Amino acid sequence: MSPIKLLVIAALLYLGYRLFIGDWNKKKGKDKEENPSGDTQENGQVEDVLVEDPICHTLVPRQQAIRLKQRGTEGYYYFCSEECCKKFVSQTGEQE
Ligand SMILES: [Zn+2]
Repeated sequence: MSPIKLLVIAALLYLGYRLFIGDWNKKKGKDKEENPSGDTQENGQVEDVLVEDPICHTLVPRQQAIRLKQRGTEGYYYFCSEECCKKFVSQTGEQE
């Protein structure tokens, strides 16, 4: 077998491997899109981030937390539930 042929076979195997991995990542990405907050800014690292509810101090995965935009900043407050969010709004006067 000539070295060229070996190279071609290696390239094909590599391409097949990339296609397979790409497909797998796409399927994985679809699962992630089910997050209701739509927060995809942090390169797929979002799912493991725990955020603290400022009302009851529960740690919540950010994907599942209720979000409230911070006034005047790019940040968000995160809550374990709508109740805590509403409580926070009534306590601080932050707008929803
Ligand atoms: Zn809470």
